[in-house]
Amino acid sequence: MTASTQPLTALILDCADAVDAALTENEAQIEGLDRAIGDGDHFHNMKRGAETVVQMRDALSDQAPDAALKAIAKKLLSTIGGASGPLTATFFLEMAKADGAAGGGSFYDTQTLAKMVAAGVEGVKTRGKADRGGKTMLDVWIPVSEALTEMAGRNAAAAEIAERLPRIADEGAEATKDMLASKGRAAFLGERAIGHLDPGAKSSAVMIAAVCAHVAARLG
Ligand code: ADP
Ligand code: MG
Repeated sequence: MTASTQPLTALILDCADAVDAALTENEAQIEGLDRAIGDGDHFHNMKRGAETVVQMRDALSDQAPDAALKAIAKKLLSTIGGASGPLTATFFLEMAKADGAAGGGSFYDTQTLAKMVAAGVEGVKTRGKADRGGKTMLDVWIPVSEALTEMAGRNAAAAEIAERLPRIADEGAEATKDMLASKGRAAFLGERAIGHLDPGAKSSAVMIAAVCAHVAARLG
């Protein structure tokens, strides 16, 4: 099978390229945030993860999306350190199990993408024993997933999805600024974490914006 028969796998791999570039563009801010309320490794953890997926292109391009996502999850577990390693790996593993992730359809099927993201987010909630309001990446991913599910449910146009999700992600990341952290290293800081965005929320918003821009450009 060639890459063209696995359009969703091709999309995932292309998004990894876009995410890798976007993380680099936002290195200073992501690193600064984790230095302020964590241990300073978050940018490097996410960047190593993105580079790992980028390097898997040749091995994965003709695999079905669910197999590719599972292989990515396995690899990320052994390459990303910190709390974000197992959480990101779980996100990919649960995406692989969503309805439609076995592929066969068009690369752009919002119902499938929404189910995959929702499954990934549920996996992170369970694995991290966390929810909205804990000053984590979930403060971005939960509202983004809910909006995507709502828009997919009414067959919203790609332009609307690509425009709305990055805004919702940014709002979610900004909202973490005034939160006390209940999870992760920032939880040890108590009130001292207030005034800083959560690094995982910020990197999530950066990645979501990169994926949306890529999809919009591809469909435009
Ligand atoms: P570490 O905290 O081990 O150094 P990273 O710096 O790579 O790992 O990742 C930190 C980010 O992980 C946080 O900013 C937060 O968004 C996210 N995070 C930490 N713990 C949890 C959790 N239990 N649930 C969800 N996200 C979490
Ligand atoms: Mg860290």
